[in-house]
Amino acid sequence: MISSQVKSQLIEIVSSANYDDSNAGRLVYSYDATPQFQSMPDAVIAPRSKEEVSQIVKICNTHRIPIVPRGSGTNLCAGTCPTEGGIVLLFKHMNRILEIDEENLTITVQPGVITLDLIHAAEEKGLFYPPDPSSMKISTIGGNINENSGGLRGLK
Ligand SMILES: Cc1cc2nc3c(=O)[nH]c(=O)nc-3n(C[C@H](O)[C@H](O)[C@H](O)COP(=O)(O)OP(=O)(O)OC[C@H]3O[C@@H](n4cnc5c(N)ncnc54)[C@H](O)[C@@H]3O)c2cc1C
Repeated sequence: MISSQVKSQLIEIVSSANYDDSNAGRLVYSYDATPQFQSMPDAVIAPRSKEEVSQIVKICNTHRIPIVPRGSGTNLCAGTCPTEGGIVLLFKHMNRILEIDEENLTITVQPGVITLDLIHAAEEKGLFYPPDPSSMKISTIGGNINENSGGLRGLK
């Protein structure tokens, strides 16, 4: 349960456009690709920057509100089902590739980057990013890392 005071604080951070506690909005984020799992969040919040994420986490920590991060919701283990309520933290806005360091072979990205976009960005530099979950057209790098996702190219 999020009090009206805490709700106001959260809206001040992300704006009302990125805070959804409507029944329809909560229902949409009450399940993922996992069959037969569903639980309602109290709100769905879509931050636009790491600074906003940091402020949200501080408020939720103070008020003991559970946070469930969510990329594209394609996981098959109910990882984004908010079984104890709280907020679903949606990374749809944070989808920028910040830096490709060709010398050190590292890439710095925001967590909501779609896997295939990252693969294409690496290929444009003549590089190869092997992890290739079959969901790569929709899955995010944040979800991939958390689920240790890959496919046959990674295996090879
Ligand atoms: C058709 C289909 C094909 C698939 N093929 C494969 C495959 O070949 N290989 C494979 O490994 N998996 C596969 N999967 C499973 C799934 O796609 C992967 O687990 C994928 O990595 C999930 O990415 P996502 O962005 O959808 O993450 P989500 O489902 O949104 O989240 C997955 C987990 O990561 C956490 N999370 C998400 N973002 C963050 C973040 N920014 N910070 C911290 N935690 C975060 C969530 O809380 C959740 O626990 C497939 C799924 C489908 C539906």
